[in-house]
Amino acid sequence: MNFHETALYQIKRALDLLNINGSASKMLLETKRALEVNFTVTMDDGTKEIFKGYRVQHTDALGPAKGGIRFHPKVDLDEVKALAILMSFKCAVVGLPYGGAKGGVICNPKELSESELERLSRAYIQAISQIISPEKDIPAPDVYTNPQIMGWMMDEFSNLKQQNSFGVITGKPLSIGGSEGRISATARGSLFVTKAACNKLGISLSGATVSIHGYGNAGSVAAREFASAGAKIIAIADSKTGIFDPQGIDVDLANKIKQETGTLQSYPYGEKIAPNDVFSCECDILLPASMEGVINSDNADQIKAKLVVELANGPTTLEADEILAEKGIIVLPDILANAGGVTVSYFEWVQNNLGYCWTAEEVDEKLQRFMNKAFKETYEMKEITKCADYRVAAFAVAAKRIVQAMKDRGWV
Ligand code: GLU
Repeated sequence: MNFHETALYQIKRALDLLNINGSASKMLLETKRALEVNFTVTMDDGTKEIFKGYRVQHTDALGPAKGGIRFHPKVDLDEVKALAILMSFKCAVVGLPYGGAKGGVICNPKELSESELERLSRAYIQAISQIISPEKDIPAPDVYTNPQIMGWMMDEFSNLKQQNSFGVITGKPLSIGGSEGRISATARGSLFVTKAACNKLGISLSGATVSIHGYGNAGSVAAREFASAGAKIIAIADSKTGIFDPQGIDVDLANKIKQETGTLQSYPYGEKIAPNDVFSCECDILLPASMEGVINSDNADQIKAKLVVELANGPTTLEADEILAEKGIIVLPDILANAGGVTVSYFEWVQNNLGYCWTAEEVDEKLQRFMNKAFKETYEMKEITKCADYRVAAFAVAAKRIVQAMKDRGWV
């Protein structure tokens, strides 16, 4: 099963659990809108290149569609559809008034200059401008996109509309409507959910050993957050290098090196390992924070963690999910574990729409409340239905909300 088929399979499992079928089920298994765009960017040497991009809206039953934009050489429509589905369920499990969307541009941002990246970001927003707005669909950062890119995109959309439109995009720089706490939100949200799960499962987070695969926006901040909660980070990896140190990695140093050099290669302590060796390290908690499908049938049986907390979207294949379940390893699914990012995006959009400026403390307190509630509802769904795992429970909490909205709107 590919990523898109797997996402559809997860929906079906949840609908079966809730005995939902008929038109509601049919609608959830389809994508409401999928736009493919091709646009020109003038490169620094004066040549013109054509880029292909997508924006997919899975459903907008609960509110405007919401989800990030990734810049990656391997993005395709099927992947963006799967990611849009995950966003619908992610927003709904947390109780946000949003549907799900995702965007992508086929490009390698590491090979583009800053000005090429700006022109590409602006051209993409022009190309999808008809289907986005603060009331229709609100993009945000995802893999290889960042606050600066969101700033250019918001500015381009505002130019087109001839008015400031801060609420059209979240994850912006603080100076132009960004929210306090957005950069650390995904990692902090995952920490709150992990703490809640550890309480229920009798695992102590203080002193727990943690391995992290992926050291970008989510992974590097998670290292800092989990370390400050008392966990010991023993293995980390970016796409080039892994580091293993049973004494505990100096996270501040690793983050400084990563930020200054773009890789972890010059981290001076511990043992260098291959990035994928992180999966076989002896540890209590494993955080996959890189890309989809990294935990698969080739490595799932080597995982020794008690808990897998999915910081990335779709990191565990279906086959791997089954292997982990057989081994008694608990998986906190992406739509719950990494929902902190979109939750603070929602806070950003609320602040933009109403002219508020919340403090970091206000944002953090609200985030904790939303994440704890989402975990509690998922836990209760698992207990009440006696379903197999937290993934199906989280999808079911979300499906219930989306289907209710579809019914109340007279769609199904
Ligand atoms: N790209 C992030 C995600 O996958 C954030 C989306 C958002 O903030 O809208 O959840």
